[in-house]
Amino acid sequence: MTGISDIEAALEDVAAGRYSAVRFENGRASLVVNVAGLDIKARGQIEIAIKGKLLELDGVDKVDLVMTAEKVERRLIAIGSGKGGVGKSTLSVNLAIAMRQLGRKVGMVDADIYGPSQPRLLNCEGKRPEAEGQQLIPVANRYDVPVLSMGHLAKPGQAIAWRGPMAGKALEQLVDAHWGETEELIVDLPPGTGDVQLSMMQNHKPVGAVIISTPQDLALMDATRAVDLFGQANIPIIGMVENMAGYQCPHCGEVSDPFGSGGAEAAAKTMGMPFLGRVPLDMEIRKASDGGVPPAATDGPQGLAFREIALRLATWLDNQKPD
Ligand code: ADP
Repeated sequence: MTGISDIEAALEDVAAGRYSAVRFENGRASLVVNVAGLDIKARGQIEIAIKGKLLELDGVDKVDLVMTAEKVERRLIAIGSGKGGVGKSTLSVNLAIAMRQLGRKVGMVDADIYGPSQPRLLNCEGKRPEAEGQQLIPVANRYDVPVLSMGHLAKPGQAIAWRGPMAGKALEQLVDAHWGETEELIVDLPPGTGDVQLSMMQNHKPVGAVIISTPQDLALMDATRAVDLFGQANIPIIGMVENMAGYQCPHCGEVSDPFGSGGAEAAAKTMGMPFLGRVPLDMEIRKASDGGVPPAATDGPQGLAFREIALRLATWLDNQKPD
């Protein structure tokens, strides 16, 4: 007659190191399976394997599994700006891809309710996330940066006029999703200092924030407000990025500065925060990003600035890790 030791021996074949709390009573075997680090497909496979193996044993006619996963410690990195159109989404997607290339397990939360653009930038527009129970499953894409977007929760083109609590709830669904092995979430925030930002700081405190600005005074003044907001919530500013400085004329090669240059670096210095880097104004960046091939994913020179910033971000994150 089958006993616990037979069941354990069978489990060794299909779930070595993952099972515990094995019990067997009245033909019913029960156990706890640790599925940490397994994706949904692998979890399904291990469940089928365990059930198949145990049901082969004489006298076992029912198998109950409880699956547990040690919680992956997941860190949120907020990408914020004082106003729209300064390149926040472009920076977010390129940083995520460049961080992935550094071997990190990165996901993207597109919290920009006014213009959710990450599905397009990550070339997975039109794909809807599936759900497992109450949790959304992030959308996979060719860059291996799973993404969930406010755009996934609304119809395409629908003007999203969400008020505070609703926006907060939507953000919750994106962050508390089935992120699996993802360890770092880049959060593309809406511009400015509104409800979504506040809700995130209260409920899902990011480990730090990157602020992006164009070099003009006006944009920088707005950026300063974003910096203040994070400061009040005790969220460290990882640093400032300057975008759209230095335009090289594709015809004559002359470099000009339509929005000025160096303003963000100077502002960062004044505010005592690190400067992470400068991204030039370059038509190729717009074309490539809008075409769903962010420059960081290619070998072209446009990816360079983003890779350097990603390296600084990764270094900052590694220095925060308690050991
Ligand atoms: P935000 O998220 O701040 O609203 P986006 O990232 O959507 O801004 O950028 C706004 C537009 O500017 C997009 O069309 C984008 O491709 C373009 N853009 C962003 N950064 C650059 C750059 N450095 N050079 C050229 N175009 C850029």
